[in-house]
Amino acid sequence: MNRKTFIKGVASAGVLATLPQFMWTQTTQPSRKYSIMELVGKRKPELFGTDIKLRQRSFEAFSDLQVDAFKVGLNVYSQSSYRSFDHQKQIWNRKIKKSIQNGLTPMQAIIELIQSSTIPGTSRHHWGTEVDFIDMAVQPQPLDRLDVKNYKAGGVYEHLQYWLLDNVEKYGFFLTYTDDPNRKGFKYEPWHYSFAEEANPIFKEFININWKEHVQDISISGTHLFTPEFLDKYYRENILGIPASLLK
Ligand SMILES: [Zn+2]
Repeated sequence: MNRKTFIKGVASAGVLATLPQFMWTQTTQPSRKYSIMELVGKRKPELFGTDIKLRQRSFEAFSDLQVDAFKVGLNVYSQSSYRSFDHQKQIWNRKIKKSIQNGLTPMQAIIELIQSSTIPGTSRHHWGTEVDFIDMAVQPQPLDRLDVKNYKAGGVYEHLQYWLLDNVEKYGFFLTYTDDPNRKGFKYEPWHYSFAEEANPIFKEFININWKEHVQDISISGTHLFTPEFLDKYYRENILGIPASLLK
């Protein structure tokens, strides 16, 4: 080894000696179990079920609930379970287009839409832990199944609603968008439940990633109107507007 190579070698060793410390400071963030793409609906997790697509534990809990509900004459089904980013984007874009055709400005259309629909990339349905309960024993099925009136006294899903209120938490499902008048964000959804055991760890990771980057996608209608203030409010009211049972 000549002198020049020797010095070069020492210099490299010096870099290597400082590397572990450098790497340590870079990895002080808690490690994640789920990929960012999975958290925003751009990568499908392993799903179970044929018509209903859920993560394994969510699917097992849903199946147990379904069997028990069947014994009291309910044919519990989920109107929607796993939904991808692209699927959510189709729903979002279609609804925005319809509202604009009905005379709303794009901003008015967005403000109205985020009372009932999620911006693609932020839907809990991306996680494979969410269900929208309906009762297929009801014949004929209502045209608009996910309507609050169906779940009220006298509504077609009245019996389903009573049974869910008494039993659903035993299976690990918790109402996500409650009827609390102090709550902002999404309106009351008596059908939408989260399987907390799997949804809560995912939620914790989701709120710590840069999800805003994924909603600033020009293929999402109205994305140019998502200002930092708008997204902060959406985060506080819509994403965090869930009960304590789902924030654990
Ligand atoms: Zn839902």
